[in-house]
Amino acid sequence: VTTDALAELELDLPTGRVASGDVVNPDDLHDESLHPTVQTPLAVVYPQNTEEVARTLAWATRHGIPVVPRGSGTGMSGGATPVATGIVLSLARMNTVLDINTRDHVAVVQPGVTLRDLEAALEGTGLYYPVYPGELSGSLGGNVNTNAGGMRAVRHGVTRAHILGLEAVQIDGTVFRTGGPVVKSSSGYDLTQLLIGSEGTLAVVTEITLRLSPRMPERTTVLVPFATLHEITEVVPTIVASGLQPSILEYIDILTMTGVTSRAGLDLGVAEDVAAKAMAYLVVVLETRTRAQLDGDIEALATLVDDAGALDVYVLEGSAGPKLIEAREGAFWVAKEAGAHDIIDVVVPRASVPGFLADVADMAQRHESFIAGCGHVGDGNVHLSVFQPDVERRTALLDELFAAGVALGGAVSGEHGIGRDKQRPFLMLSNPENLALQRAIKHVFDPQQLLNPHRLLDERPLP
Ligand SMILES: Cc1cc2nc3c(=O)[nH]c(=O)nc-3n(C[C@H](O)[C@H](O)[C@H](O)COP(=O)(O)OP(=O)(O)OC[C@H]3O[C@@H](n4cnc5c(N)ncnc54)[C@H](O)[C@@H]3O)c2cc1C
Repeated sequence: VTTDALAELELDLPTGRVASGDVVNPDDLHDESLHPTVQTPLAVVYPQNTEEVARTLAWATRHGIPVVPRGSGTGMSGGATPVATGIVLSLARMNTVLDINTRDHVAVVQPGVTLRDLEAALEGTGLYYPVYPGELSGSLGGNVNTNAGGMRAVRHGVTRAHILGLEAVQIDGTVFRTGGPVVKSSSGYDLTQLLIGSEGTLAVVTEITLRLSPRMPERTTVLVPFATLHEITEVVPTIVASGLQPSILEYIDILTMTGVTSRAGLDLGVAEDVAAKAMAYLVVVLETRTRAQLDGDIEALATLVDDAGALDVYVLEGSAGPKLIEAREGAFWVAKEAGAHDIIDVVVPRASVPGFLADVADMAQRHESFIAGCGHVGDGNVHLSVFQPDVERRTALLDELFAAGVALGGAVSGEHGIGRDKQRPFLMLSNPENLALQRAIKHVFDPQQLLNPHRLLDERPLP
């Protein structure tokens, strides 16, 4: 039956849209989860427009075939990994920037457009898309579906704050639109926001209307070494409250700093005696309209961190700042190469980070594990690399860690999503009434549970 069904789909779509068997590209069969579940799908389908997506989904509904939507596969929680009984629907070929409106500050893109493509398309317009989840090969469709965050969220907010409207396709092939190129609307339920962060479980996004921001001409990166991580996490709420509005406010612990700078071959000019004492670094990017404003902000920041016990303050000139930010993005690869068994991204209220990280250090010790990290500390979003090869011990440690984050009012994942990897703690720690409402919403969109099954709310084991 499945072979017949695939033949029917091939006939229904233009040539070259359906790949199965040996011609499937192995790159389309995984994401960047550290816990890949390797299954070969029936086929990978590459639609090139909304109508082809609609036809594919209508076909899947007719035959009861699961569909896993996929952007660039840079996700970190097993959100886009294939299931053996279904197809992967790759949006990678829907990669056209459809419109850039510099007067309304709006861009309209297909979902397969990557952050890098969008950045290139906006070159010279004076505008940019401020969401910066580091991995620039990620697609806008993937960003929307994970509600991607990244380093600039402390000033600009996450993906949610920059999406004005969507076109999407329901599992039965019905195409619908939400929102539009306007910055406000009080007109009914906000389906745009409902789809953002839904991890491909409600509908397939086929077009995205984005809000752009003016690019600030003056910027600098300030690197501040501290003798303890605690001092950094304590000073962060003060920096946020200062009105300096940093566009990046990150912490990097000493191990991660050593890893990312040596991987990037980067010498930041930190004096030897300072480096010897520094156990963690604060990285602050300031952006303003004029040089005079920038100089004033640098001075204000320096006073603030000095009062908080900074070992020194380095204003990184020229390309050093951007290089450090780029190197920081490599933290994931450094942790992976070092053999991290898990990388998690708990979020807690910003002012609770010092207490939370102290608890995490205690947990690591009690569970005889090792935890290193860095993170979007301005957002209370800490990225922790967990080293503990024993699955049972690691699970016990992570259960405790997630529970501590949630008890503070936080969440299991701040930006990477739940996918398959964090399903257990997410379902365990979520309010049951809230989960019941989420399941009811899922049922409205996808009563047969065909769209991105076996993750997020769907506990059925993999086939
Ligand atoms: C080195 C590195 C650094 C990273 N840093 C950050 C960071 O700082 N912040 C952050 O938030 N993330 C970060 N990420 C994670 C990743 O880049 C984001 O999760 C990104 O949003 C994923 O986009 P993608 O196109 O690769 O999506 P995929 O991995 O392909 O898919 C992600 C999810 O979206 C769904 N999906 C994709 N496209 C569609 C669509 N068109 N319609 C419906 N569902 C769809 C998939 O089913 C899946 O559930 C990082 C990743 C790496 C490798």
